[in-house]
Amino acid sequence: MTDTSEPRDPRRETTPRTPTFFKVPAGTPARQCASPSCAATIYWIVTTRGRRMPIDCDVEGGVRPSRKHDPRQLDAFNAPANCDGRGRSHFETCKDAARFRGD
Ligand SMILES: [Zn+2]
Repeated sequence: MTDTSEPRDPRRETTPRTPTFFKVPAGTPARQCASPSCAATIYWIVTTRGRRMPIDCDVEGGVRPSRKHDPRQLDAFNAPANCDGRGRSHFETCKDAARFRGD
C-alpha cells in the first residue's frame, strides 16, 4: 500500500499541462472520428475565432452535451434537455492526430 492514486489510462496520458476545455452547446450532434483506428465520439463546435473544431467529451473532466436543445423539457430535478457539455480538442486526444494535419 504505497500508491493511492488511481491508475490512469495510458492513452490519455499525453500532456502534463492543464488541458483546455471547450464548451459544447446542447444539441450539438455527435459524430464519429473519421479515423478508423480512433472512431471516438466527437462534437464539432465553432470556436470564438470562427474555426471548426472537433471536441472529445469522453475525457477526464469532460461532459457530453444533451442530445437535444429543447426548452420545453426543462426539469428542475432531473437533468434538463439543455445541458451544455465540455471537452477537449480532439486534435489533442485523437489516436490518429496526424490525420488532422494539413487540413
Ligand atoms: Zn480521432
